[in-house]
Amino acid sequence: MSPIFHETTKLEQEPIVLIIAEKNIVARRIAHILSGGRYSVKKICGIPIYFFTLNGEKYASIGLKGHIMDYDFPQRFRKWSLPDLKDIIWSPLIVVAREAKHIEALKSLAPFVKRVIVATDYDREGELIGLEAVHVIKKAGKRNVEIKRMKFSAITREEILRAFRNLTEINKGLADAADARRAIDLIWGATLTRFFTLASNTSDVYSIGRVQTPTLALIVKREKEIESFVPQKYWEVVALLENGLKAKHKKGRFDSIEEAQRVKLRSTGLAEVFRVEKSTRKRRPPHPMDTTTFLALSASIGISVDRAMKIAEDLYRLGYISYPRTDNTVYPESLDLIGIAKRVCKGPYAQYLQLILSQETITPTRGPKETKDHPPIHPVEYLPIGKLSKEHEAIYDLITRYFLATLSPPSVWEHAIVHMKIGSEEYLLKGRRLVDPGWERILKLIEEESEEDEEMLKFDIVKGQKFKVHSIKVVEKKTRPPKRYTQASLVKEMERLGLGTKSTRHEIIRKLFSRRYVEGKYIRPTNLGRTVIELVEKFVPIISSSELTRKIEKEMDEIEAGKKCKEEVINNARRILKEIFEDLMKNVALVGNSIRESKKKDLESSKKVGICPKCGAPLIIAKSRRGKRFIMCINYPKCNVTYPLPQKGRIYILKETCAGGKIHKIKVVWREKGVKKEWILCPSDYKEKSE
Ligand SMILES: [Zn+2]
Repeated sequence: MSPIFHETTKLEQEPIVLIIAEKNIVARRIAHILSGGRYSVKKICGIPIYFFTLNGEKYASIGLKGHIMDYDFPQRFRKWSLPDLKDIIWSPLIVVAREAKHIEALKSLAPFVKRVIVATDYDREGELIGLEAVHVIKKAGKRNVEIKRMKFSAITREEILRAFRNLTEINKGLADAADARRAIDLIWGATLTRFFTLASNTSDVYSIGRVQTPTLALIVKREKEIESFVPQKYWEVVALLENGLKAKHKKGRFDSIEEAQRVKLRSTGLAEVFRVEKSTRKRRPPHPMDTTTFLALSASIGISVDRAMKIAEDLYRLGYISYPRTDNTVYPESLDLIGIAKRVCKGPYAQYLQLILSQETITPTRGPKETKDHPPIHPVEYLPIGKLSKEHEAIYDLITRYFLATLSPPSVWEHAIVHMKIGSEEYLLKGRRLVDPGWERILKLIEEESEEDEEMLKFDIVKGQKFKVHSIKVVEKKTRPPKRYTQASLVKEMERLGLGTKSTRHEIIRKLFSRRYVEGKYIRPTNLGRTVIELVEKFVPIISSSELTRKIEKEMDEIEAGKKCKEEVINNARRILKEIFEDLMKNVALVGNSIRESKKKDLESSKKVGICPKCGAPLIIAKSRRGKRFIMCINYPKCNVTYPLPQKGRIYILKETCAGGKIHKIKVVWREKGVKKEWILCPSDYKEKSE
């Protein structure tokens, strides 16, 4: 049934029950489900409100845009200054509007509200967002308004109706934990970022964050391990047999080539099998999907963790998957797993239902962590192909296959090890093959390379069998450096170290990329990222260590559990920060020198555009604090020679010179409506257009 649209914008003077959702689309879906499609829409301050009547009561449902309020420092701290920093740590925080229209809409509704139902996402941030809206209504004069909480893990008809029939109370501890995190991160980030930026006296911002900096430190540390890695040579002895079989000497790794050569000389004649070990092993499907597993798998199929979370949120709000932020890896008893499997096994998944239902008993896997807030991530409804974007389909497919796999029978692998003698030396042939794919028919997980050969099992090798030896080879190998992190391995490592939460990790990784501290699919630090960590480790190693962050994270868990109060935890963090800051202030001149020196080193290694007409030093391309690029003399700020540059397009420095041979011409290449355009100019002639 289509909704009935009211043309009037005047509110009827009837008391209403106000449902507060986190996003507009959720507010509309809740109204749709509860009213059976009989709702009307009115816009207040540009925000759609969904009205309906239920059991004789009038309801209104409003969707917010995440947090509608935020913390900030009082006016006097807006300008960055070093002497002010010691006061910023203990400065009271002020609450500022983040979504003014939503706040106005709530204020207009407030006089009519008799009861509020908070229906935001059920977790720390959601609880806080709900309470922000309640705060607006209370401040608008409704001090004693009744407040209820509606908790759901999926936006489906059954789940919304169930949640609506089982309203509970607001959990203040949950909201306080989010509030403390927000306050601490603001104070922490502002104090340290401002300190390093002001101490540097350069045009760069040196951003420091409570979770961001220890995470960046992991990446820098790994890069240094790779750089200082000295590969070790070692050797393997391999026998090439008839039928393309390859046997490896039992010892595996030889540290001296002489020893490997001696073994080769002793390996003469035919290869004779003297033992065959065979076994079958069952592999259980993976445990139910938590957020870390989800993000890591998404990254492994080429979707960044940040993008994957956004897509998962869309799928959740549209009613295709359950809530995507959870640490839970155990399906709750109440979840109708078979019902869900039947509902989603359509289209490409239809073929898997039989596999699941044919089991005598269906035993879903269990993971190590069980929480009560949300079930592990699972599909709730079938997503028809072509309805959403390809990326949405890929994420839905991943979640659905994974879910179906957790209900499926184990796979069965046959393993074989063939022991053979060549001369007096023992060689091994290892093989494995999939006998019964079980859950692996549904889900393919990328795994470490295996040395086990599938072909070999085709030959049914038995004891006493002999093979011709074509040749014996001594193969030189090198030990490999540790691998760079990928987004997948980084998000797992962050969880292991207690850095961030299920709701913040993807965001931290995004920030590291957008602030140009790291780059690449195999993540490596940029010069800037490296400089930040080197500075921090020289002057305040504690802020790049994961222990401190983990400790504060634990205190936030204690707020949630009602064991500590918010103010106590915030003030503790302030005390720690004050000590760190006092140490830093003693070294402010040293910090400044260090930053400028490492920056100079970076500049010297960057490409030169020419020679400064004033002081003869190299001219290079730099970025201003506001992100504008320009040409400057490397002796800045002592020498003030600069030239503006076009801001759009890619810049190439040409061999050809201008300005009396002092400056290289540049070529700017950009695309306009898909057409490649280029412009060759002399930087000293370029005049900035006023924008
Ligand atoms: Zn100069």
